[in-house]
Amino acid sequence: MKHIAVIGGGIVGISCALALQSDRHEVTVLEPGPIGEGASWASCGCLAVGEIVPLSQPKMLMQVPGWLMDPEAPLAVRPTSFLGLLPWFTRFTLNSFPHKMRAIAADLATLTFQATDDFKALAADIGHPEVLVERPILKVFDDDKDKATMGAAFDLAREMGCTIDEVSGQEAKNMEPAIAGDFQHAAILRDWSYVTDPVQLVKRLTEAFLARGGTVKSAAVADFSRDGSVVRSVRSTDGEDIFADEIVIAAGTGSKMLARKLGIRLPVEGLAGYSTLLPESGVDLKHTVFYPKGGFGITPYQDALAVAGTAEFMNLDAKPNWRRAEVLVNHARRVLPGLNTTNSERRMGRRPFTPDTRPVIGRSARLANVMFATGHGQLGLTLSATTGRLVAAEIAGRAPHVAIEAFHPDRFSRRQNYSPHGAH
Ligand SMILES: Cc1cc2nc3c(=O)[nH]c(=O)nc-3n(C[C@H](O)[C@H](O)[C@H](O)COP(=O)(O)OP(=O)(O)OC[C@H]3O[C@@H](n4cnc5c(N)ncnc54)[C@H](O)[C@@H]3O)c2cc1C
Repeated sequence: MKHIAVIGGGIVGISCALALQSDRHEVTVLEPGPIGEGASWASCGCLAVGEIVPLSQPKMLMQVPGWLMDPEAPLAVRPTSFLGLLPWFTRFTLNSFPHKMRAIAADLATLTFQATDDFKALAADIGHPEVLVERPILKVFDDDKDKATMGAAFDLAREMGCTIDEVSGQEAKNMEPAIAGDFQHAAILRDWSYVTDPVQLVKRLTEAFLARGGTVKSAAVADFSRDGSVVRSVRSTDGEDIFADEIVIAAGTGSKMLARKLGIRLPVEGLAGYSTLLPESGVDLKHTVFYPKGGFGITPYQDALAVAGTAEFMNLDAKPNWRRAEVLVNHARRVLPGLNTTNSERRMGRRPFTPDTRPVIGRSARLANVMFATGHGQLGLTLSATTGRLVAAEIAGRAPHVAIEAFHPDRFSRRQNYSPHGAH
């Protein structure tokens, strides 16, 4: 049995903690804020199996002026953050060459196709299988032109094995009578599912972790003490040293700073998204409905409808632009004309994004006892249970149940000369 410190109490950190506990380790989660209220609480709640086509697109750099000018667009760049983000953004854009996009999609497919089984096993293990609603999701399109924007992404996803049925807007309305009647096209993504409430989910996972003897310590990690390649302890901002045999860095966007303290270059930036919970929506929805043109999805949680999405490139310390959450809800009325927005609750989360859209899962060759579990971008909830299994397997010395070479933390470092499929 080892003592393992997991840094970060988001959906990824707590899933790793539970998986490590199953191997009978003594686990401490270090989290300065409430558990699960980082990126995790703003999510759209989907197990987005097949959401594998990278967000980086060819010609992206040419679109940046438009994104800088319109702070309320589905994709925007905060002008004050732009220069600082330029190096990351350039690498992100360079990953949009077709061969790189295909390699990224293939790598993400290997993980996401494992996600539902892993998630169901985790939910069953904590005694709450009901947190997962196994129902496909819908994407709706205004007209031919709008549908065509998804054509290449659908083709690539299908090539990787995803099941996407294209239907008419009327067929979508037959499935979900509350949606507007003038959508011309829709698609049913059959591999996806959603959770009843991501905050409740993290709460249930945390309860199980604590009931099994785990410890949650309210602390932000500021530094480490090292002995060569071995990290002996993590040091909190209060100066306390917490000794551990193994350390798991699962701090979402905070992982970049922690990696830097250990001499590892981890280009994880925050791609902010917003969500609004509508507890009195007055709308009966059974499936998650995405409106790609607006950059958001609407998920029927147990006690509220969640409208979540959009993407804003901004510095990690930039303040939320709550106007984006308002715009999101206004656009949601395009999809659900009968939407009531009384007593809404707004949230913001920073998706931890790498320039190649792949998560970071594994050990750096330079550190003997540190695992990374971060950079999950738009897939953190989807891949939480799978990541937990992979982290536990690595620490136990077991073979991983899916190949993780492509997610290696050293792939960003020139000195390591590491290159999965040539993607940098
Ligand atoms: C609008 C929106 C919609 C989304 N929809 C989906 C979806 O439908 N499906 C999906 O799979 N994903 C979705 N995502 C992405 C998903 O939410 C993230 O990928 C996921 O939450 C990342 O989880 P995490 O645990 O890595 O990070 P976080 O949830 O951010 O947790 C990291 C934790 O680390 C802590 N931390 C940071 N620094 C330190 C430190 N120095 N010491 C100690 N603790 C530290 C933070 O306080 C935080 O609690 C969405 C995200 C957004 C914003």
